[in-house]
Amino acid sequence: MAATINSRPNGTPQPSTLGENAKPNLLYKIDGHVARVNGIHLLSKEEAIWTISDDRSVRLYMKRDNDQFWPSIHHFMPVPPTAVSFNEETDRLLVGLLNGTVVDFQVADDCNSMEEKRKWQLHAGPVTSVYLSLAQELVFSCAKDKQVFWHCSETAVKMGSFVVEHSCTCMVVDLPFVFIGDQGGNVSVLRLTGSAPQLISKLSAHTGSITSLAWDAVKQQLFSGSADNLVIMWDIGGKRGQAYELNSHKVRVNGVAVASAARRLFSVDDSGRLVCWDMDAPRMETPAWQPSDACQECNAPFFWNVAAMWQMKVVGLRQHHCRTCGHAVCNSCCSHRTTFPPMGFELPVRICKSCQTKMADDPSKFDLTPLAVSHEVRTGVTSIHLQQMHGRLATAGQNRIVYIWDVAQLLN
Ligand SMILES: [Zn+2]
Ligand SMILES: [Zn+2]
Repeated sequence: MAATINSRPNGTPQPSTLGENAKPNLLYKIDGHVARVNGIHLLSKEEAIWTISDDRSVRLYMKRDNDQFWPSIHHFMPVPPTAVSFNEETDRLLVGLLNGTVVDFQVADDCNSMEEKRKWQLHAGPVTSVYLSLAQELVFSCAKDKQVFWHCSETAVKMGSFVVEHSCTCMVVDLPFVFIGDQGGNVSVLRLTGSAPQLISKLSAHTGSITSLAWDAVKQQLFSGSADNLVIMWDIGGKRGQAYELNSHKVRVNGVAVASAARRLFSVDDSGRLVCWDMDAPRMETPAWQPSDACQECNAPFFWNVAAMWQMKVVGLRQHHCRTCGHAVCNSCCSHRTTFPPMGFELPVRICKSCQTKMADDPSKFDLTPLAVSHEVRTGVTSIHLQQMHGRLATAGQNRIVYIWDVAQLLN
């Protein structure tokens, strides 16, 4: 029988600050949509939320006296809206459309109407992200046509542009930085100085399309969610090019949201899994996978190593990699599976016999306390938006229902 390595050593301080019973509590359910909800934006000053949907609507739902959310604005666009962002200081609403148009609205003080201020017919494909930078008076947009544009929000004049190699899927802006995720699995990091953008880095570790980005401006850490089921934390501020894997999703990750003050990250996926990560805990980078023609544990040749197979008169084996040391090993040398939260493995992964022995011999060096908690939302989640100050998280689901959660317990 395999040794038990999951038990925590006695007396070790609890590294995770996530309470064991902390979970999101469902507060409200908004179910008026007849088509897919493409974006949500939860407000901080009112109990209100913007939604955009494939039914061409842009709606502002507000909580009424009966504790239910009803639309106070219900505006139809000529084509489905695909991106939304709202600036609460100025009540400016930006909406990107399926046909590449970006519309800038002014929302009335009473939140009962909105007026079109400006319209840009910009992109040759669906707009995937829009953002207003108030300090610089710039409106940013990116789209599936691979283009990123920024325009003066006052004069509407084009101030600059950038072309990404693949379709742009998401974007976060914290000037002078602009981060753009793309279909090819890359994140382009731009620095804007004047009108000339400078590509300072291309973060390429995902093997699937980037679906979502979140930026912790305080710690200068970028989080990317991807169709490869993975979330990666890029330590931009650390300036040492470190990237940390966060592995708790079995299917495509559709949204990430960061709570900087509480040092928490939320991620959601296609199956309805909502994960809250403790980003305060020390984390380790995953090792690079080592190339080898033979198992680094038992020396059995892998199937492409014909010479060794002939010499040793054995049939070649399939190659695997130990997730904690990166060694190339055969199936029988890495049959043990374990979680390893400090490396982001919240789900069991393959580890080699040597690592298994090390863990079993000295469990105090391998704390397996989970550094994330997960919760099942009843439906696949397509997008999320967090209001950290009030501990509220909104999720839009495949069932077209928008849920508003109290996540304060998870932020303590
Ligand atoms: Zn082996
Ligand atoms: Zn190993």
